[in-house]
Formats: sequence, structure tokens, C-alpha cells
Amino acid sequence: MKICVIGSGYVGLVAGTCFAESGNNVICVDVDQEKIEGLKRGVIPIYEPGLKELVLRNCEEGRLSFTTDLEAAVKESLVNFIAVGTPPGADGSADLQYVLNVARSIGQHMESFKIIVDKSTVPVGTADKVRVAVAEELAKRGVDIEFDVVSNPEFLKEGAAIDDFMKPDRVVIGTDNVRTAEIMKELYSAFMRKSNRLITMDIRSAEMTKYAANAMLATKITFMNQIANLCELMGADVMAVREGIGSDSRIGYDFLFPGVGYGGSCFPKDVKALAKTAEECDYDFILLKAVEEANARQKRVLPDKIAARLGNGGPKPLAGKVIATWGLSFKPRTDDMREAPSVTIIDALLELGAEVRAHDPEAIKEAKKVFGERIGYSHNQYDILKGADALVIITEWNEYRNPDFDRIKSLLINPLIFDGRNLYQPHRMKLEDFEYLPIGRNGKG
Ligand code: NAD
Repeated sequence: MKICVIGSGYVGLVAGTCFAESGNNVICVDVDQEKIEGLKRGVIPIYEPGLKELVLRNCEEGRLSFTTDLEAAVKESLVNFIAVGTPPGADGSADLQYVLNVARSIGQHMESFKIIVDKSTVPVGTADKVRVAVAEELAKRGVDIEFDVVSNPEFLKEGAAIDDFMKPDRVVIGTDNVRTAEIMKELYSAFMRKSNRLITMDIRSAEMTKYAANAMLATKITFMNQIANLCELMGADVMAVREGIGSDSRIGYDFLFPGVGYGGSCFPKDVKALAKTAEECDYDFILLKAVEEANARQKRVLPDKIAARLGNGGPKPLAGKVIATWGLSFKPRTDDMREAPSVTIIDALLELGAEVRAHDPEAIKEAKKVFGERIGYSHNQYDILKGADALVIITEWNEYRNPDFDRIKSLLINPLIFDGRNLYQPHRMKLEDFEYLPIGRNGKG
């Protein structure tokens, strides 16, 4: 099948590459000339495990190509995926300008029947707006060409994106057209070999499914964070509580790890956008408002703990203190810094007067765009510990799970670790003579 994917970011590049890998002819389009020139030379603009090999192979075999020429890509393709960003607007609602720009461009250039697929995360009703935008452009040209708009939200997780795309838990297709549903089924059939995980539904329900999924996951994380905070106050161990509740099959173990608050390019903006959608319908979605508020507070847990333990009063209680942080990306196995909790945490530490030095296996380049020279960086996780007053763990990269504790102790001024991801066992840390402050399990384990 001939496909074009418009927007070659985390989602578009992965989707386009995986469709090429399953035998389709795919053109990935982007407005970012530098990104496209790089991709043509085999330079992958993001860190995503396994992506580079797949891109190179499919380019070499002639199934995958990159261009800034949207017109040519649209003319050649039957299925046109829109995978551009939908960042939050000033009022929290999803900013649809990029999606609708693409829709208009498709309307300006299409010459034959097209299936236009909303792959971006977009609020309920967007497919209608896309349809209107395309129809208006066709009307301006004075032509009448058939097209169909489909909602096909993406559920991949950064860091495991290829696997998620190739072996999806489900693929949601929102359409009211039987012929289009069949074409979409055919396109995804390569990823359904084990069992059929394709769910077709009406367009509005498909659009809502994506927001409901992300809002549910954000709620689960937030619930566990609040249980952890309470555990800490009550002398209970949140990790034991997780095991206790996770064993109930109605609850399950997934997504019940307490931490420093959720971040990333999806949960914060999608929770905000769904809350805004509710507001526009005069529906008071009080749970979502609480989730947002609780998550903002959770990002303050680490800096407040650090200030309480190491601070010496005054407006800059951490002045003269050096804090070493492990992990900058919003989660492991990605270089994505969008809405990363590290940003709030490190900004707060700087505000409190601390000097901050950071390590991350992949995100330092992206982090420099956020923090610039305000913090120090090292590609060696131990270098930043020399002479630091404490180590703070923000992201749970595998590299941090079994570190050389003797080396850490010999480098830090104090054997003090604030662990925002509960990577270590408190009893082991006691044996190692560390003062260890995890989330929701002080002195336990
Ligand atoms: P991204 O910012 O990484 O990529 C978007 C790309 O679109 C950029 O390269 C940008 O240059 C390009 N673009 C913008 N306007 C364009 C235009 N008119 N023509 C061609 N290209 C254009 O974004 P992303 O993380 O890939 O997210 C894309 C969408 O997918 C969002 O709606 C997001 O919510 C959703 N989503 C993201 C993830 C994720 O993990 N990142 C997961 C599921 C869904």
C-alpha cells in the first residue's frame, strides 16, 4: 500500500518505519528541513531503541523515504496519516493548528480518493474539523474528490515504541465507512498475526479512547503517589502496599510505582486537554482537576525533602550545597525532555540556592536546551558525585539499578541518597551505611 505520514517525530517516524517494515511504500514528510536532510543521510533525530536499524534497512530496500514535499507525497499515497504535534494551547486545550494546516494542505493537493487518518492525539470532534478543512480547500479548487477521515490514535510508549507498534495491545480504528475500515484492517494485519487486536468503533469514541486511556494512567500514577505520601507519614511501606493491592486481579501491578510525578509529552497535555473538553461541555470533571493538582505537588516532594534535610534556613536554604542528579529524561530509554519532572525538580533546587550537576545516558543534549549553563553535566554517572552533598535519583534508567555503592560513598561528602524512583532496598542501604530517603518507605524494607 502507498502511505504517507505527515509529521516525522516520535510517532510519525516510528509509525512510518514500522509500516515500511511490513512491506508498504512509505513517505515520511516533515516541515523541518534539517530533520529530513538528516534522515536522508541516516541520522535519526530522536533516541528510540531499535529505530535506527529499521530506518536504515527500509531506506536501503527502497520502501521508506523522507521529504519536505507534502504535495508529491499526498498525490502518491492512498492513506495519509497526520502525525503532527498537538501541544497545549494557552487555555490547556489541544492546539489543533498543525493538524488543521496539514488537513488544508491535503485538500489543496489531492487528486484522487484519499483516506486521511488522524494519528495525532486530538479531542473529540476533530475528525469533523479535518473533514471541513479538506472540503473547504476542495471547494476553493472547484473540484469534487472523495475522501474519508479516520481516527486512529496511537498508544505507543517512548522507549518501547517499535515493540508497541509491531505488537500492539490494541489498534483503535474510528470510522463510519465499511470500505475504509477494511483498508485500515489490511494495513494493520501484519501486526495482528498472533491475535486480532483491532477494535473498530465510531470516530468520536475512538478520539475519546485515547484521552480516557491517558487520563486513567495518569490517575493511577497519581493515586499511588498520594498513597506513598501517606505511607511515609504513617510509617508504612508503599512497596509492600503495592504488592498487597496489585495481587487483586481487578487492580493489577502495573503503573503502581510511586515516584516524582508523571511528565512527558502526553500525560500532562492530554489530562489538561480532557479537562478543557469537559469544561467546554459544562461538565465538572473534578477527578481530573485533582490529578493535575496532585501531580504538580508531587514534583515538589524531592526538592522539599532535600531542603528539609540539607537546608540551613534563609531565602536560599541550599546555598553552598552541591546536588548530583541521576536522570533527566521524563522516563528511561528516551531522550525526551518534554514536561520532564527533572525540570521542575532541578529548577526548584536552583531556586533554593543549590549547585546542580546532572547525568543522563541519552538526554544531556536535549537537557542543555532546557537548562543551558545553569547546571553542570557529565556523561559519566560517577564524575558528578565528587564533592556533592547528596545524590538524587530522578529517572529510573537501568544504569542506576546496581551501582557501585562503595564508589558512590567515597565520592559524596555525605553518604546521602534521595531516591525518587525507589530503586534500592532500604535495608540494603542501611547495611551499606547510607542515609537513604526513598518515596513512601522511609526506614522500611
Ligand atoms: P513531535 O513533536 O515529536 O513530532 C511532530 C512533527 O511534526 C515534528 O517533526 C514537526 O516538525 C512536524 N510538523 C509540524 N507541522 C507539520 C506540517 N505542517 N507538515 C509536516 N510536518 C509537520 O510529536 P510526537 O511526540 O510524535 O507527537 C505527535 C502526536 O502523537 C501528538 O498529538 C501526540 O500527542 C501523539 N502521541 C505521542 C506519543 C509519544 O509518545 N510521543 C504517543 C502517542 C501519541
